[in-house]
Amino acid sequence: MSTDVVVIGGGHNGLTAATYLARSGAGVLLIEQQSQLGGLCAPREFSAGFTVPGLLHDTACFRDWIVKDLGLSEFGLERQKPSVIAVPDSGESILLLDPSDPAQAVPDLADWRKEIAAVRTVIRDLVDQPPLSLEPSGVGSYLELLRQGFGIFRLGDRDFHTLARILPTSLEDWLLRHTSDGPVAEALAADALFGSFTGPKAAGTAANLLIRECCAGEPISGGPAGLIAALETAAKAAGVQIRTGMAVQQIEVSGGRVTGVRLEDGELLESRAVLATCDPKTTFMRLVDPAQNTLSFETRVNNIRSRGTAGKIHLAVKGAFNPNGSPEPLEHIRYAGGGFNAIERAFDALKYNQISESPYLDIWIPSASNPSLAPEGHHVVSILAYGAPFELTGGWDDSARERLTEIVLSKLNEIAPAIQDQVVAMETLGPADIAAAYGVTGGQLGHVEYALDQFHVMRPAPECARYATPIAGLFVGGSGSHPSGGVTGVPGALSAKQLEQAL
Ligand SMILES: Cc1cc2nc3c(=O)[nH]c(=O)nc-3n(C[C@H](O)[C@H](O)[C@H](O)COP(=O)(O)OP(=O)(O)OC[C@H]3O[C@@H](n4cnc5c(N)ncnc54)[C@H](O)[C@@H]3O)c2cc1C
Repeated sequence: MSTDVVVIGGGHNGLTAATYLARSGAGVLLIEQQSQLGGLCAPREFSAGFTVPGLLHDTACFRDWIVKDLGLSEFGLERQKPSVIAVPDSGESILLLDPSDPAQAVPDLADWRKEIAAVRTVIRDLVDQPPLSLEPSGVGSYLELLRQGFGIFRLGDRDFHTLARILPTSLEDWLLRHTSDGPVAEALAADALFGSFTGPKAAGTAANLLIRECCAGEPISGGPAGLIAALETAAKAAGVQIRTGMAVQQIEVSGGRVTGVRLEDGELLESRAVLATCDPKTTFMRLVDPAQNTLSFETRVNNIRSRGTAGKIHLAVKGAFNPNGSPEPLEHIRYAGGGFNAIERAFDALKYNQISESPYLDIWIPSASNPSLAPEGHHVVSILAYGAPFELTGGWDDSARERLTEIVLSKLNEIAPAIQDQVVAMETLGPADIAAAYGVTGGQLGHVEYALDQFHVMRPAPECARYATPIAGLFVGGSGSHPSGGVTGVPGALSAKQLEQAL
């Protein structure tokens, strides 16, 4: 069989890229190794009758311009109001933070909001365009250079200094300029530390929160599953052919150019181009024959850091999950129990290949807004526990999983003493389990760690930061590419646009 483009991976970026390409007139075949589409966004029934709508929950960063470009509203995509973030204090109170207006609950965050608003346009421009090449070719690329340069110039001295100060600083230093430590830190930190190997006291962590705050909108109704359903319908309507339950075993290369892919059953699919949305280490170290990479590029890819930092615990519970006797229904809770110091300590454990004794918990209860995820009278509690390293001393065996489960349940017990009696079934995934089940190197949440040296023109490596790679016709477009991981659709959309020009 022969086609214009083979897209590897049916996660949200693969589906986005495939739909752009098909709408531009290309013949597109998408190959997904799992039996269902969605990748990390696919729903998961972890116990009979109990389902999480994806391994993740937050869809607020999926871009509106992609929704418009692909007409996703016509294919069922709807937005909804963001859920309030609740932070149980170690006492009995709870901070309730409205992500669309955190300044309301915490008045001293009003100045913080103003700083973000002042640089929002420049940041959005930076993350929603391919990284600039400093060796422009053609009039278009010179104009792009001028346009982006003008955006920064228009900031003026004061706002440029603000931006220059925030980008390299630590999350703690940035937030403590505006507000006090404690529950506010716990409410906001997860958005900065997702994908990061370092904690809130490390340089560069403020940038992650700044980018998120500049780009987030309203979440998608139905969560990740709602997004994937709309993307799948749009892809099929655009003419994308989809094959699930079949892995690509090798990307075929001849004379330095891609010629297609070979599937695990031996079938050869010929194509003019391949767009890989699996993580870059999988693409270049496993799917491409190493002999096709130059030594310097191979070294560069080898050095990409993709260490998982968090485990996932799914609880099936009887009754409501009600920390500190909170008013129902709570849908999103964050808890470290001690502000920045507590969060930093959870991340410290990663450096020493240990499970933290007190992880930082990002807790979602998706069944609070979607009761069909659990049997009547029950709920699903989905916990991302930061402080669980991929490279765990002794490895991720049953006893390591049991240990993480015990630690997380005992931490939950601090805010919800009834929880031990409420749990009727559970599942624990360490980063190694996420890696094995979802084909993501290191179980890294964003495919490639978030760090200043793995950002923009360095992501995933300078040779492929603009989505084309050293192998002609091979493009990358998953979360390991610019601008980053998270459910944004941007790597998929931008890589497809670059590939369109090359077809
Ligand atoms: C536990 C967890 C929590 C997270 N929480 C959030 C969150 O709250 N908010 C947020 O924005 N982001 C979150 N993320 C990150 C986000 O999920 C990812 O960045 C994003 O979903 C990745 O989408 P993708 O399409 O780039 O890749 P993936 O979803 O990983 O899709 C890649 C696809 O490629 C397929 N594949 C791999 N190899 C092959 C092969 N050889 N042949 C065929 N198919 C192959 C895989 O099966 C997979 O379906 C979280 C991630 C994790 C793991």
